[in-house]
Amino acid sequence: MKVLTVLGARPQFIKASVVSAAIGQRAGMTEVVVHTGQHHDTSMSDVFFDELGMAKPAHHLAIHGGGHGEMTGRMLAGVERILLEERPEVVLVYGDTNSTLAGALAAAKLHIPVAHVEAGLRSFNMRMPEEINRILTDRVSTWLFAPTDDAVGHLAREGVDPARVHQVGDVMYDVALHHGERALKMSENIVSRLGLAEKGFVLATIHRAENTDDAERLRNIVGGLSRVAERLSVVWPLHPRTRGVLAGMGALEELERHVLLIEPVGYMEMVQLERAAAVIATDSGGVQKEAFFHGVPCVTLRDETEWVELVAAGWNRLVRPIDMAGVAGALIHAVGTQGKSIAPYGMGDTAVRIVDVLSR
Ligand code: UDP
Repeated sequence: MKVLTVLGARPQFIKASVVSAAIGQRAGMTEVVVHTGQHHDTSMSDVFFDELGMAKPAHHLAIHGGGHGEMTGRMLAGVERILLEERPEVVLVYGDTNSTLAGALAAAKLHIPVAHVEAGLRSFNMRMPEEINRILTDRVSTWLFAPTDDAVGHLAREGVDPARVHQVGDVMYDVALHHGERALKMSENIVSRLGLAEKGFVLATIHRAENTDDAERLRNIVGGLSRVAERLSVVWPLHPRTRGVLAGMGALEELERHVLLIEPVGYMEMVQLERAAAVIATDSGGVQKEAFFHGVPCVTLRDETEWVELVAAGWNRLVRPIDMAGVAGALIHAVGTQGKSIAPYGMGDTAVRIVDVLSR
């Protein structure tokens, strides 16, 4: 069986690392990886292939930038051309980016079955590009690999045939167990290199359009983090989109007087930062779960989350960034808190379970 995997964005490289390894170990299965180019530079792409032991993609489309329609359209044409050349039995896509939708749509139109990892997640906010991408991808998928009970429930309510839905757990838990442990054993540690104290700092990551493209919300986040920095150090690996917007607002210089702004880090350094943080402030999906995996309280600066079980268990709290004091207060209050003991993301064998289903 030949599997063609379409990847394009940072979280997809991370998720694919464990599934590609499981495919590589399965007799009778081969994988061809297509990189759309959505995230393309060293710190957003190459570092993950190097650190997580992934083969270089067989095809690189080098498509990035432009509006959503233009980017997705170019990817659709590019992936279609490769599908016609490679003729795989299955197309494997991850998550909710434009690369996910382009891969799924190109395959479905050529009648190649699609497998979607991270199926069934919903924010119920159709203004999010991710929500549109994930709903449409689920709709054309043959195998829907749902991480949680909640995701399975959403698909059932949307009328998806239960035979297509496989609750296999969350691949990010596999990655955290497999590569996360390695990160802690490394002799180099970014926490000491940056002069940060163990449990003495806030780790921030912000990149969702709902925050970066809304000047008011972004100002509240920046202001909130600057206020917290009067009590706890704040380190913020800046996503390129966020850096661009902050630079455009002329806010970088002032922010840098309060907050330690760094370039995006690799997965290993990110785990080191997450493990040592007193609290994490984020709008990332993956980082919300990693905070939980590493037992660190999390404040999610959004109106809603797809990972509702972490809010219910008290590991995560949702805070709309509508005022600076609210952002700062929530972060300070979260320090030292712990949630209930839960295990919603499987046993760390999700990658093998996905490959089991596909090989059946
Ligand atoms: N991540 C990383 N370096 C960073 C910021 C995030 O390696 O500077 C990792 C993080 O540990 C997680 C993943 O990127 O595994 C999350 O990706 P992102 O926040 O870009 O996307 P989302 O999860 O929101 O789709």
